[in-house]
Amino acid sequence: MTERRFEGIGATPTVGLGTVRRYRPVDVTDLGEPETESVDPAAERQRFETAQDEAAAELEAERERTRERVGDSEAKVFDAHLQFLRDPQIEAGVDEQLDDGLPAPHAVHAAFEGPIAQFEGMDGMMAERADDLRDIRDRLLRLLTDTARTDLGALADDSVVLAELLTPSDTAQLDPEAVAGIATAKGGRTAHAAIIARSLGIPAVVGIGETLDEIDDGTEVVVDGEAGVVIADPDESTRTRAKGSTQTPVIDEPVSTSDGTEIEVAANLGTPIEAQPAVEQGADGVGLFRTEFLFQDRQSAPDETEQYEAYLDVCETFSDCDDPRIVVRTLDVGGDKPIEYLDLDPEQNGFLGARGIRLSLDEHADFFETQLRALLRVAATDAGAGLAVMFPLVSTVEELEAALEQVERVAADLDSEGVEYSIPEVGVMVETPASTYLADAFAERVDFLSIGTNDLTQYIQSAQRDLDRMSDYQDPLAPAVLRAIERTVRAGHAGGAWVGMCGEMAGDPELTELLVGLGLDELSMSAVTVPDVKHEIRETDTERAKELAEAVLAVDTLADVQALL
Ligand code: PEP
Ligand code: MG
Repeated sequence: MTERRFEGIGATPTVGLGTVRRYRPVDVTDLGEPETESVDPAAERQRFETAQDEAAAELEAERERTRERVGDSEAKVFDAHLQFLRDPQIEAGVDEQLDDGLPAPHAVHAAFEGPIAQFEGMDGMMAERADDLRDIRDRLLRLLTDTARTDLGALADDSVVLAELLTPSDTAQLDPEAVAGIATAKGGRTAHAAIIARSLGIPAVVGIGETLDEIDDGTEVVVDGEAGVVIADPDESTRTRAKGSTQTPVIDEPVSTSDGTEIEVAANLGTPIEAQPAVEQGADGVGLFRTEFLFQDRQSAPDETEQYEAYLDVCETFSDCDDPRIVVRTLDVGGDKPIEYLDLDPEQNGFLGARGIRLSLDEHADFFETQLRALLRVAATDAGAGLAVMFPLVSTVEELEAALEQVERVAADLDSEGVEYSIPEVGVMVETPASTYLADAFAERVDFLSIGTNDLTQYIQSAQRDLDRMSDYQDPLAPAVLRAIERTVRAGHAGGAWVGMCGEMAGDPELTELLVGLGLDELSMSAVTVPDVKHEIRETDTERAKELAEAVLAVDTLADVQALL
């Protein structure tokens, strides 16, 4: 049988192999015509209130289970569901339908219709809230119609769950020991289910589309969350690769090249809960903590205390490592990273608009100040000694100086309030063409530079990073991008800064030798690739790596670069 590939969006960058268990929740929305003659409105109201109480009890239990197994921030989705469950507008809608003589299930179904349609009409993550509302509606309908719940908590070992969509409560039931992967037809990377899967370390591919229906129950599949593909009926080499992909032995100490050049290998994190798995993969520290995930999927920004706790939590998780450096990037929104409550105009805040540091120095200076206060306070703790702060998408020296002044101002405020603080190492992401030309000027003003090849490739190649049609341009091995990297490292070192890389390119073990040859001091990546990259570094000879880099920089086409590698 030939293997079949189903492309989607990788949500957890790990690979799993297992047997398909199709999850088809019973359709509780098919209620049929209401029998209105025999309806007693008072009794139906009582029925609805009982179902509401039972739903609240279930949600509280699921929240506790998620808090214990995954973490506080992931459990918050159930708080949102509890709020929606008692939402006055929806309750008023149910009341109205009950007054009109509908039985409780029909009243619930009708009352949710309007709010669901409202969210569906919105963009991005707001549209995902429609799934939350459907989840709550279906929970109420299941309870009202006494429908048995499909048990996702008792699957056989090595199951791969295939579903149209998994709700947060479905995902929270999954046992990471038994589940080898999940794949869904709908949903995006930022859907709650994807976030929870990532935190539980379950390989996941989402947004595959209706073709997923072509895979039958019992089929053997590989879920490759790195490549964003599900492979049904994998052939022998795909199976071997899938099995081997998790087997590289972890090296839990810093590594050097064969001739003794030490290279820091760090992890990129999106949430504090990813810190422990990163330690377990042998990461030396964190080279990029993308703090925007703390700000997303909620109604308002996290306050200073919540941020302080999240940053301290990551530092404490790494405290058994050797002098871990924890690089926290300040809020990077705009472009492909929207936040609901900021109400950013996509035209003004697109890839070439107000994003990254630009927002922090302008309309969201308040967020920037709160974030810096939390960071400077963490830097004063024992666990926070290795904390570093990094600014995203800087393109002028004026911006950098304004950001540095803000650090000084926040320090002065904390000082005058008698609050303990420390000024951490400060760095800049190099991810715009302008910043590669200014790398020397930046390096004179900060401790480090970190090359963000995802955005740098997009801007140097003038090819939007999320457009599939532009994928030929989005290769960081393009000669123009490699030359930009080379000049950044050279200028950064000349200015006295260390230079790292935290874009996706850093995590490709096939490029490790080249990156060492280009002179990078640190590589930061998805935790799952840390063991492979550490092994590659140990096998690299610096002089040979430099020769490879020189050869690669001397050719003019992507094809020639690829041929040399
Ligand atoms: C990058 O642009 O390379 C980067 C690491 O940042 P992000 O992917 O979060 O924009
Ligand atoms: Mg970026």
